Amino acid sequence: MNWLDVVAEEDLADSAAALFRSAFGGEPDGVWIAPGRVNLIGEHIDYAGGLVLPFALPYATAVAVRRREDTTMRAVSTHTDEPWTGELGDIGPGTPSGWAAYVAGVSWALREHGVGGVDVAVHSSVPVGSGLSSSAALECSFALALDDLFDLQVDRKVLINASIRAENEIAGASTGGMDQNIAMSAQSGHALLLDCLDGSTRQIPLDLAASGTRLLVIDTNAPHRLVDGQYGERRKSLDTAYAELGVTTLRGLDLDKAVSGLVDDTLIARVRHVISEIRRVEQSAELLDRGAAGVELGELMTASHASLRDDYEVSSPELDSAVDAALRAGAYGARMTGGGFGGSAIALVPSELVQAVADEIATGAARSELPEPTFLTAEPSGSAHRFF
Ligand code: ADP
Ligand code: MG
Repeated sequence: MNWLDVVAEEDLADSAAALFRSAFGGEPDGVWIAPGRVNLIGEHIDYAGGLVLPFALPYATAVAVRRREDTTMRAVSTHTDEPWTGELGDIGPGTPSGWAAYVAGVSWALREHGVGGVDVAVHSSVPVGSGLSSSAALECSFALALDDLFDLQVDRKVLINASIRAENEIAGASTGGMDQNIAMSAQSGHALLLDCLDGSTRQIPLDLAASGTRLLVIDTNAPHRLVDGQYGERRKSLDTAYAELGVTTLRGLDLDKAVSGLVDDTLIARVRHVISEIRRVEQSAELLDRGAAGVELGELMTASHASLRDDYEVSSPELDSAVDAALRAGAYGARMTGGGFGGSAIALVPSELVQAVADEIATGAARSELPEPTFLTAEPSGSAHRFF
């Protein structure tokens, strides 16, 4: 069984600082840390003006950063052996390509606030590319570093938006804003109800232990798939639905009425996912407000997975296998989390069944000749902060 250990912040920071010294010489000005996340429920609706309910994981990214007196930027990461050096003025859509876009893009997005050159070294305990938001952890830890080092004195909202723009415009990944919001706004012991229509947030206590449950995170280790086109295609189909229904959001629409205004079966299915998923998030938030993170929440999670698999068509054999196995072994509910097509799933499990559920998921994957999954701990954790 593959359990991914949580790395203490001190050790994360040490690793980032050690890389900094070996790559650039001397000491960083500081280390900033931001978390990965899982989304409890509300998938593929952040870009549709929906509601999402993520919480921060105890896995995080640390950036060791030193201010420079010129406009050069240098970046290295323990995750890759491709260092990057560039000029702030050269950063733009598609430049740089590759991983450096996630840091360079943040400097670019904050350029009008007076950001200069930096050296940055990255180390992360968030699995990269597993749907647990290593990208936003990187952007947000670095955005906070720039805010401090250049004394930007901007609101976290500005840093969130800069991180979103880095990902959308420079890295070219057309994701919504959920990941950056939770990385910057998470509170330990809470999930964040984020309204993607008006940007408002509400902290909701999430005490799984009090409900006798645990949340198991399963990184399926699925092979990397080229899915950017799929993401864009889903967004485009929603734009078509808006046009055909004469609306600017599906939020608040009655499902039957909306569906009766559409002809294309695929489009109907996409819209059905969005509207039903928004409703499920509302119901989940009501349950958590009552401290009820058990059977009923599990049912909503499983319904969410079915909707993502059948109507939105963003699941994968690995995700379906993990969800099915979790339910077989007694989980209250399970679903894919994140963008899909691989990546990670979550299961809400009675505490005493955690090991049995993990075993069944691993066995199920082996039986179907799928990659061996990795299991993670999911204690709702805190937001981006300066470590020293
Ligand atoms: P996720 O955010 O779910 O992990 P994404 O595809 O959104 O997956 O982001 C993963 C990309 O972010 C990586 O391919 C890489 O370019 C960049 N990235 C994230 N974390 C790191 C890191 N620690 N070091 C270097 N690049 C990283
Ligand atoms: Mg990401």
